[in-house]
Order: sequence, then C-alpha cells, then structure tokens
Amino acid sequence: MSDKIAFPAPCTIPMPADARSEIVTMAIPEDARVWVPQADRVFFRPLFFNTTNGQWCNLLKVCKSGFLSRHRHPAPVHGYVVKGKWRYLEHDWVATAGSYVFEPPGEIHTLVVDEDCDEMITFFNISGAMIYVDEAGQTVGYEDVHTKIEMCRNHYTKVGLGADYVNQFIR
Ligand code: FE
Repeated sequence: MSDKIAFPAPCTIPMPADARSEIVTMAIPEDARVWVPQADRVFFRPLFFNTTNGQWCNLLKVCKSGFLSRHRHPAPVHGYVVKGKWRYLEHDWVATAGSYVFEPPGEIHTLVVDEDCDEMITFFNISGAMIYVDEAGQTVGYEDVHTKIEMCRNHYTKVGLGADYVNQFIR
C-alpha cells in the first residue's frame, strides 16, 4: 500500500468579487531595508495592515539591551516568538522562541531584551493602538495602523524601495 494520499481536485469556485487578495511573503526578508527602524535597536517588518478594522501584523526585532517603551493596549495583541527571548519589566516570565503570548486589553508593559540575547524576533498581531504612557499612565504618544504605514513610507522612500513598497501589505 502506498503511503501517498491523492489530493482532491482544486476548488474551482470563484472567489467572491469583494474578497481581498492574499499576501505571501518571506517573513524574515533577505533585503535588510525592509526592516523599519522604530527606536534605538528596535525594528519592525510589516506583514499586514488592515485599514478597515485598525489592526496590523508585523515582526518585531529588538537587539541586545534594546527596549520598547512603556505602553498600554486598548485592544488585544497576540504574539509568537520566532527567535531569541524577551520579557516585560512588569511580569516575571520570559518569552522564548516558540512561546505564544496574549496581551489583554488594559495591559501596560515595557518590553526588554537582556544582554544575554543578541537579537529577538517576534510576530505580533495588534489591534487598535499602542498607547505610550508615562510613569503615571498618562498618554505621551501612540501608534496605530496609519502611523505604522506612514513610518514605512518614510523609511522606504529613504532607503530607495519607494513609498509605495508598503502598499503590498495593505488590505
Ligand atoms: Fe505590548
């Protein structure tokens, strides 16, 4: 008996007329210019920007002793650690390669990468916004799907990929 299973015929039902097109891309890009600098030792690689419900997916890369400033989430975040490890100053666990992390709405935290990790890469699916806050919890800034797109446009213009390079990730 063969251990090969015959695949079914491909589905020929047409896609709905209003369906958006799929995105397939090498998540960790060969071209380092695709990483958008966000802060000292912090970069993001855009994968998906949803301008209808205000959600986005990206890879976050933080190098040794880099950190992502204190922020609050008004909506859920899901993360999957691809490489390295990181932690929040506000929690006592460490997220390592292979870990899944759920950040509930209301969560305030500061992401740090310690000296013993050269580089961490984590996939994040973020809804709403990242609201940067001071020690008292007062808002000092924010990021949302539109500011992220804008950051990409500015960076891709600067590095020669062109402002429209980001369009492939927008649905
Ligand atoms: Fe967060």
